[in-house]
Amino acid sequence: LRGTEQSQSSWQQPGLVYGTMGRIEPLLEPCILPRFLDLDQDGKIMAEYVWVGGTGSDLRCKTRVLTKEVKSVKDLPIWNYDGSSTGQAPGDDSEVFLKPCAMFRDPFRPGPNLLVMCDAYEPPRDLPDGKHVDMKPIPTNTRYACALAMEKAAKEEPWFGIEQEYTLLNSTTKWPLGWPTSGYPGPQGPYYCSAGAGAAIARDIVEAHLKCCMYAGIQISGINAEVMPSQWEFQVGPCVGIDSGDQMWMARYILQRVAELYNVEATFDPKPIPGDWNGAGGHCNYSTNGTRAANTGWDTIQKMIAKLEKRHAVHIAGYGEGNERRLTGKHETSSMDTFSWGVANRGASVRVGRSVPVEKCGYFEDRRPSSNLDPYVVTKLLVETTLLSD
Ligand code: ADP
Ligand code: MN
Ligand code: MN
Ligand code: MN
Ligand code: MN
Repeated sequence: LRGTEQSQSSWQQPGLVYGTMGRIEPLLEPCILPRFLDLDQDGKIMAEYVWVGGTGSDLRCKTRVLTKEVKSVKDLPIWNYDGSSTGQAPGDDSEVFLKPCAMFRDPFRPGPNLLVMCDAYEPPRDLPDGKHVDMKPIPTNTRYACALAMEKAAKEEPWFGIEQEYTLLNSTTKWPLGWPTSGYPGPQGPYYCSAGAGAAIARDIVEAHLKCCMYAGIQISGINAEVMPSQWEFQVGPCVGIDSGDQMWMARYILQRVAELYNVEATFDPKPIPGDWNGAGGHCNYSTNGTRAANTGWDTIQKMIAKLEKRHAVHIAGYGEGNERRLTGKHETSSMDTFSWGVANRGASVRVGRSVPVEKCGYFEDRRPSSNLDPYVVTKLLVETTLLSD
């Protein structure tokens, strides 16, 4: 919880003076590091290994310096970390293995350097009775099951486009960036897709993130300012199968790194400010060979929606923590308890675009996931329900 139950003034640390826009100075002088960035790196590669930590939403990272050329993810060594420090292993048996899954160019260290998305495993063991146990995914490794489902569904070539909404906060006060220090901005209306001072807040972060994702090789497909001031969205997709989860997690990591440079907090909380302020979602746009097929696709979509209706509760359970604070039926959301769908309906669980019934094929949008969705869980559930079950 982002302190939303406290009164605003109690968030301010005593002794600190806040400007009218709650501006926070950088902790370090930003001009010094660039003196060292052009030093050559002695033919080596810096690989930033990134993984999901014990809360299921925290991203962790550490750097490995490699001496050999890396042509594909297979050239990256398995590594390990102290799982007792991330809530993922007991202290007396703390080693967790990191397996590289996807690699990207590192926009923070241009050149041959890499960002590496990993998933986490218990190390292999030789038991006292002589038996050997292979590495197995740790409980918070949601990628493993997702990858298996995507393999089973590979013939159908599932595509996902996830819309990631997020909110920028003053990292000290936890109040949205650019909001009046002891109050609220004007009511919602002018902020969505806005331009101009006081409406579009902290665009530099959003722009830097977009450019970094493009450089990294993430299939980022757009950005926009959202309905609540200081709330923004980026979209990643369409991505095929497991790529969607890998790319979305790395795009989030990049956002955290960019925001860190500004000493700003990017939160994926589904309802950062209670009341008449939009929550943050993670709509998932979805299509398969079946839904994209000329003439028959619309029929396939309707059959898929019928299956989704039957498994509504299972999906809701996997669509993000705290989603009940967001899915109130207000602010362009559906109700949490009942499934609904409609053409062009932004108050439905599932929205079908206007062009789909006309063109008789295309994709649909599952609007239920919240901004803190685990893309591995959401894409797995969609594939399981629509393709792998009757
Ligand atoms: P909205 O109109 O709901 O705001 P956006 O434009 O923000 O939608 O996001 C739509 C997402 O869906 C984009 O990431 C886009 O790449 C993706 N997308 C487009 N076509 C398909 C498709 N056939 N299957 C899956 N995703 C798609
Ligand atoms: Mn959108
Ligand atoms: Mn949106
Ligand atoms: Mn929204
Ligand atoms: Mn949407």
